[in-house]
Amino acid sequence: MEQLNQTATERRRITRNRIYRYLYAAPQGRAKQEIADDLGLSLPTVQKNLNELLAAGLVCPNGECESTGGRRAARLAVNENARFALGVSVSGEHFRILAADLRLQEVAYRKCTHPRTTDPAALGRLLAAELARFLADFGLNPQKLLGAGVALPGILDAGRTRLLNSPTLHLRDADLRPLAAALPCAVQFCNDAAAGGYAEWFARRDLGSMAYVSLEGGVGGAVLLGGTPYAGANGRSGEFGHICVQPGGLPCQCGRQGCLEAYCSSARISTDLGVTVEQFFEGLAAGNLAYRTLWQDYLTHLAAGLAAVRMTLDCDIVLGGYLAQYLGPYLDELRRLTAARDPFDDTAAYVRLCRYPRHAVPLGVALHFIDRFLQEL
Ligand SMILES: [Zn+2]
Repeated sequence: MEQLNQTATERRRITRNRIYRYLYAAPQGRAKQEIADDLGLSLPTVQKNLNELLAAGLVCPNGECESTGGRRAARLAVNENARFALGVSVSGEHFRILAADLRLQEVAYRKCTHPRTTDPAALGRLLAAELARFLADFGLNPQKLLGAGVALPGILDAGRTRLLNSPTLHLRDADLRPLAAALPCAVQFCNDAAAGGYAEWFARRDLGSMAYVSLEGGVGGAVLLGGTPYAGANGRSGEFGHICVQPGGLPCQCGRQGCLEAYCSSARISTDLGVTVEQFFEGLAAGNLAYRTLWQDYLTHLAAGLAAVRMTLDCDIVLGGYLAQYLGPYLDELRRLTAARDPFDDTAAYVRLCRYPRHAVPLGVALHFIDRFLQEL
């Protein structure tokens, strides 16, 4: 009997979820009759579910529908502010904290510094204090918080509870559970470059499959196949930074030589030269010859890496990370260099720039909780 009840409850949940997701896909809202017609449900069923969603504040009236005559039908839409998720990007000295609504739109953002520590529990306490301040300062209601995604610059284990290696945080095989325990909400850890890929995937689900290559202090990414993240046997898929693009070449943080990351990290065009990334691109645009030579080498090795990704996955490649915002003027050149290494394509138009050059990592890691909310509601 109990099983039967559970089945009925689950069936009701699935119907409610269908109605909610149908409305989610129509930001301008829909009338009751449209919902019933499009989903093949009876009007009383739709009404009953809408009453529940309205009472829970998850759906709200949104203007009125056009009518051919008589009374106008009320239009209903998803209330994107009903819940929010936090996304945190952690680096050696900074937390980048972002709150996103149910449409993955940024509602608040702050970058703050924190003391260096190699103790995950201490890092958790520092983050908990910053999150409390963040929620209070932006007037965000903790009762609407779905959870906090935390993106870390390093390789995680398959269960995402251990940070196997993070040169940036000076952590090796660290247990992350004490960090999670210090936070007052559900927590999900994620590799930072992969997180950026998830945000991008959310913005272009139409693409189906894509490789996301993140260009920052490290070079990494994510692989999304048929709309689903592909993690790999060890959760290390998308570690594009360690594709060898120059055997015996420049030393890499991983201890090997000639990795893509050694040629295409932001350090190569900023820290190594003693300038900021902005200054580098300003100098490049102004015709600085030394910068031009270095940039040519950067693009050549990046193209070699992108061609390898294309040969392996045969899908679109989206370039993200904070360097992506500077790549626009050089995209044609990068495509030419990539096409020169691709025996099947003359244009390499499959190399694209990301839609979220800003805050992709915290957005992508916040997405985990939003996506789960939409699935489980
Ligand atoms: Zn490497």
